[in-house]
Amino acid sequence: MNCRDFQQLLQPYSDGELDLVRQLEMEEHLAGCLDCEEQERNLRSMRTGLAAAMPYYPAPDSLRAKLQLAPPPSPTVTRRRWRPSGQQLSIAAGIMLVVGAAATIGMLVPRSGTGADDRFAERVVAGHVRSLQAEHLMDVPSSDRHTVKPWFRGKIDFSPQVPDLAQQGYPLTGGRLDYLTDRPVAALVYHRRLHAINVFTWPAADKTATPARASDRQGFHLRHWQRFGMTYWTVSDLNDQELDEFVRLFQEQTAE
Ligand SMILES: [Zn+2]
Repeated sequence: MNCRDFQQLLQPYSDGELDLVRQLEMEEHLAGCLDCEEQERNLRSMRTGLAAAMPYYPAPDSLRAKLQLAPPPSPTVTRRRWRPSGQQLSIAAGIMLVVGAAATIGMLVPRSGTGADDRFAERVVAGHVRSLQAEHLMDVPSSDRHTVKPWFRGKIDFSPQVPDLAQQGYPLTGGRLDYLTDRPVAALVYHRRLHAINVFTWPAADKTATPARASDRQGFHLRHWQRFGMTYWTVSDLNDQELDEFVRLFQEQTAE
């Protein structure tokens, strides 16, 4: 199943209508896919927002009598919230899409060119946080680049450069696959004392080399550069000076 398949199942998923196997597949996918996870979150917040905004009126006794219903339950005990149907949700989703698109266009116009980087920066930080929180920092825990580099073979369609920076105080601690886009990317993990440094790399769409550019996001420091046809994003809570040194050393040891 690809993202489109999953997204078509988001509605029944949030209605609790999927069978257990599908539901687990969905949860697994959502844990690793920012795009689908974001859509799921939007759907959920829209549902809660709509449900909370809709007034609730208990049916009057006369109507209940006509319909031969039991008297209304105590509102504090079993008050049933109105839940929007799939059709109502898709109309609301359409409205939100239009509003969202307008907002996005408005946001991107004055800063064109940085939009894609911004999006990636967000994913890079999310990937970093996810790797720390889920205690899933490494698929291949090893300080040996001759173990880490071949581990990626057959799992991704490129071979990442894995410099050895242990001598300089930035030991390699492992690697894993991560999903920042619709394709798996290589995540290399280095450490400086107790600080984890994630380096995400994949073949660049645009082969021009760019120097490392610094940015901050959610308290993390990021560096982004391109070199020899590869894109690199590194992220850490390490201080700026040491992160710059790390990037310089890393670049020195990545050859064509
Ligand atoms: Zn997805």
